[in-house]
Amino acid sequence: MIQDIGEHIYDNHFEPHEAGPGSYLLHYVGDTMLCKLDDGGFCLPRLADLASAPSLRYLFSIDGTGFFLILDETVDAPGFSYAPVNWTRDAEPRHLLFAAVTGWQLARWYEANRFCGRCGHPTEIVPTSREICCPECGMVIYPKIAPGVIVAIIDPATERIVLTKYAGRPQVHYALVAGFTEIGESIEQTVAREVMEEVGLKVKNLVFYKSQPWSYSDTLLVGFYCEVDGSTEITVDHSELKVAEWFTREDALPRENDRVSLTAEMIRRFKERGNAVLNQ
Ligand SMILES: [Zn+2]
Repeated sequence: MIQDIGEHIYDNHFEPHEAGPGSYLLHYVGDTMLCKLDDGGFCLPRLADLASAPSLRYLFSIDGTGFFLILDETVDAPGFSYAPVNWTRDAEPRHLLFAAVTGWQLARWYEANRFCGRCGHPTEIVPTSREICCPECGMVIYPKIAPGVIVAIIDPATERIVLTKYAGRPQVHYALVAGFTEIGESIEQTVAREVMEEVGLKVKNLVFYKSQPWSYSDTLLVGFYCEVDGSTEITVDHSELKVAEWFTREDALPRENDRVSLTAEMIRRFKERGNAVLNQ
């Protein structure tokens, strides 16, 4: 998955850091990022690659090397250009992909909170923690992380799984029921509500599998397997433009090329293990 970066160690503990020549730099323009592409891979600029010294903000480290956000609007980085952040989903090396996507979430958070949402005053960056504060009214703003669920519904009697797909988009992969947690509900309630809304089923025996940061949409995804409870008749919510069907292990589409998403891993796991996914 996107956060699985092998032996590399992501360190998001926040304390002031000075950039050195080897520090990685992140710069985003809209949904593009500064990088250099080569055969199926990419690299990020280091401070030594820049023609002039930029204004920087420390974000996090991997293997002890700092990643800094470039605050200037334009950057003079010979040999580097901009590519869509989404382009990098399958790109190597994986730890730089993870850094680029995570940095993008932070960059969008900083950019969206330059002014206080309560009183309108310009905000300030807290130098010792990952916080933005308003010097006028004292409001503190933390990074935006929206919890959501991914739900694999299993019918143990027939060893089948519910897969969904957006209608009218033939290229889109099959996925699992998914949705954001709403105000005032627990993760478990999100599961029950989203399943009922999207496919009209009741579920029971939730089994937590894994969670996944999904910085593309400021999300923390929580993945569950569960059993259908009672009727297996699917009622699709067409307002969500979805189709949904039961698939056997043999027919379930594994999304072999998708090595970054929790959804793909959960579908592959059902294909490999069948009902055993419910025994964790
Ligand atoms: Zn304020």
